[in-house]
Formats: sequence, structure tokens, C-alpha cells
Amino acid sequence: MNAEIIAVGTELLLGDILNTNAQYLARQLAALGFTVHFQCVVGDNPQRLAQVAHTARERSEVVLYSGGLGPTADDLTKETVAAEYGDPLRFDEAEYKKIERFFRDCHRPMSENNRKQAMVPANGRTLANENGTAPGAMFVQNGRYAFLMPGPPKELIPMFEKEVRPLLQTMQQCVLHSRMLRVYGIGESQLEGMVAELLEGENPTAALYAKTAEVVVRITARAADEQAAQAMCGKLADRFYAILGDHIYAEGEQGMEYTVVRTFIDAGMTLATAESCTGGLVSERITSVPGSSEMFECGVCSYSNNIKQLLLEVDSGTLRQKGAVSPEVALQMADGVRRRAGATVGVGITGIAGPGGGTEEKPVGLVYIAAAMGDTVWVHRMLMAHRTRDVVRLAASQKALDMARRLALGLPMHGCTAHRLRG
Ligand code: AMP
Ligand code: MG
Repeated sequence: MNAEIIAVGTELLLGDILNTNAQYLARQLAALGFTVHFQCVVGDNPQRLAQVAHTARERSEVVLYSGGLGPTADDLTKETVAAEYGDPLRFDEAEYKKIERFFRDCHRPMSENNRKQAMVPANGRTLANENGTAPGAMFVQNGRYAFLMPGPPKELIPMFEKEVRPLLQTMQQCVLHSRMLRVYGIGESQLEGMVAELLEGENPTAALYAKTAEVVVRITARAADEQAAQAMCGKLADRFYAILGDHIYAEGEQGMEYTVVRTFIDAGMTLATAESCTGGLVSERITSVPGSSEMFECGVCSYSNNIKQLLLEVDSGTLRQKGAVSPEVALQMADGVRRRAGATVGVGITGIAGPGGGTEEKPVGLVYIAAAMGDTVWVHRMLMAHRTRDVVRLAASQKALDMARRLALGLPMHGCTAHRLRG
């Protein structure tokens, strides 16, 4: 079945608030196997809302509305959509009592306007709101459905889950299942070339989404039941794994830092970081993961040369001769913080995040990343031309995390040079 989402509210048109309800509802509809062809935002204006509601009813079997169910004069969604689906609203005594009780429980005065919230569909049905006063509504006409939910996400989400989703499930004869493979270390265009053949299918489908410093492959299958859809996704995912191998670092929503924390804990290893141009971004990402205290020893934000020498024992001669942004200093930072912390792996990052500070020899976007383990330090040189400061820092942190992951898993250290430590 096809579905459409309409968000009502002038504040959305003005950009004052982000339309997070549309994103939430779109994801839910996709998971239920509905095809969403249109999303729309319309202000609190009865004529324009009526126009949009009319178009939506004509082209979409299911229309989900968000917003405009409140008590004030500009909340017009229910009246307008009821008219479109030919439903005369009626006053509901029980609903009115509920609203009265809600206000009493909150110790807030109730106004006469709240009376209009007790107007419910005569032919459709009321959708209970456990987190606010505005009940939702469902209208139906000739197999076309409209579901009206309140704007505040705290009310809309529970209402969708308890009231709307079960109804949608009964309408739908198929399910969608998706998997998200997270790929690092291959650029989007190169990746596209490698897996071009796998992107052509219609069911399951596969698509690439480029993010900062990684690409996500989304595989989606449509089938009669969850099990069949999962099996279809599984077969296609296997083909991606066969081509991309350990470049797929995880599946799902969580970033590289989750993989690193889990991998280190599983391997009984610990990590320490020394960061210059990333200013602690790697340690921030690691410590954002619950449970990271089991594997994270320390993060030193060693911005100045002085601190690099004092805390990490970076050699003053190396700093003078090679400069702070050099493979030698990155190596010594990684080795130094690891020894200081007594960690299994030490990571060191030094570079020029920009926009200022670049030279011909050492341009903005040049970053050296080192990872030390055992008697070896691996050093990688990154050169990210024409990137903003934020992107340089994020991409450097991602590479550092991937190097730590590869060390912990014993995977090849792509694009790194190995340096043996003395003694
Ligand atoms: P309403 O139900 O239209 O009175 O909306 C009440 C409040 O809910 C707004 O002021 C917003 O804070 C929030 N809200 C409304 N629509 C949306 C939306 N599409 N996405 C996220 N929040 C929303
Ligand atoms: Mg509103």
C-alpha cells in the first residue's frame, strides 16, 4: 500500500522546529512495508490544509498527519480532515471527562477551548493519547485512511506505537526488512565500482549512502513475512561481505567507536590516546560508549609541543628537526602514551586541521596517525585537501579508530608503514 505523511504547523514552515515526526513516521512506514511517495509540510491555514488533504486522499491510501490537534484556534487538522473524509464529528462525553481529569491531575485550569478536543469521529475512531489532552483520530472513506496524531513527539510516538501501528499492520500483507552495513576505507565512487552489480536488484534492493569518513550500504527486502525478508537480505549481504571483507566494520546504527570498544573488551586489550589536532575527539567518541571504562586507559589532549615532551616523552630534537606534524612525532606520541598508561595499544594523532597554519610542504589537511602495539608502531599519512576543519578532525578520528580496530583483530594495516621500536 502507499502512504503519505503530512506535518501541519507554521513553525515547521518557518524552520523554527525540525520535522522529526516525518522522519520517525517515514521509518516506521518503511518497516511496515508501506511505500511512501510523498511528504508534505503545511502551515496552520484551513484553506491550504484542505487543499493538501484533498490531494493526499486522492493519491494515497494511507495518510498520516502530525500536529494541529491542540485546543487553540489555529489547531484545525481534525475539523479539516474530517470534512475531507466526510465524517461529521460528534461531542464525546467520556473524552471530555478524560480531558477534565488530565487538567485536574496537572493542577492546570481548563479552558472552554479544550471542549473542541472532545469532538471525535462519528464514523472513524478515536486514538487514545496517554501523554496529553489531544486525542488522535482515524477517518476512513472507501478504503482510504487518515490517521491524525498530535505534534509533540512525546505524544505522537507512543500513540503511533500503541494505536496506529497495530491498525496499519492489519492492512499490510508484506513486511520490509533492512540491514545497514557500515563500510570504512573505500571511497564511495570506488565502492560503487566494486559492487555495481549488487546495486541493480529490485527486491532486495541495495543502495550506498556516503557519510563523513564512511559509506553505509542499505539492503532492503520485501517479503510475505519477516523470516523470508531476513533470508533475502542475508543472501545479498553475504555477497557484499565477499567483496568488501573487513572493510565492513559493523552493522546497524552505531559508529566505529562501538566496534572498537567491543573488540578491545573481547580481546582483553586496553587503549590510550594522545591527540593533537583532533583535540580529544577519539577519546570523546570512545568514552561516549557505555562500558568503555573496561578498555580505555586515558586520552591526552597534547596540543602544545611542551606537553608532548612533558607527558609523552616526545623528543625535543625530533620536534625541532621534523616539526610537530610529522610521522616521527605521531609515532612517539603513540608509543609514549601507551608506555605512560601501560595500555596494550597507543594511538597518536598530529596534523593541520586548518583553515590556517598550512604551508607548501605541510598543507592544511595533512595528518599523521600512529598506532603502537607490541614492538611495532604503524604510521599512516592522510592528506585531505579542501576539507573543513570539522571534516579533517572527524576523518582523522575515524582512521585512528579503524587502526585500533585492525590491531585488535589482527587485520592488515592498509596504507600504513610499520616501524620497529628499539630494544
Ligand atoms: P501542535 O500539535 O501542532 O500544537 O504542535 C505542538 C508542538 O509539537 C510544536 O510546538 C512542536 O514543538 C512539536 N511538533 C509539532 N510538529 C512537529 C513535527 N513535525 N516534528 C517534531 N515536532 C513537532
Ligand atoms: Mg501547531
